[in-house]
Amino acid sequence: MFSTAKCGHCGKTGTKVQEISPVGAAYKQMAVCCQSCSAILGVTGYYDSGTLLKQAERERAELSQKVQRLEQQLISISHRLQR
Ligand SMILES: [Zn+2]
Repeated sequence: MFSTAKCGHCGKTGTKVQEISPVGAAYKQMAVCCQSCSAILGVTGYYDSGTLLKQAERERAELSQKVQRLEQQLISISHRLQR
């Protein structure tokens, strides 16, 4: 069920995403803010973790294929040496 969130500060609706650099924090973060008064409604990580996860999955699959090719080459070399 979809509902519209209201800002707890000004009571208006509408959000925007804004990059913030909190003092003392090692990383930038993305804040979901009220479009009207810029009150921070929530904070999320600077990078989209879903995108990073998909990227890591893709890299893992590529590495796995490379390892399989190396295994096949090793088997092939081993067979040639035994002749
Ligand atoms: Zn507001």
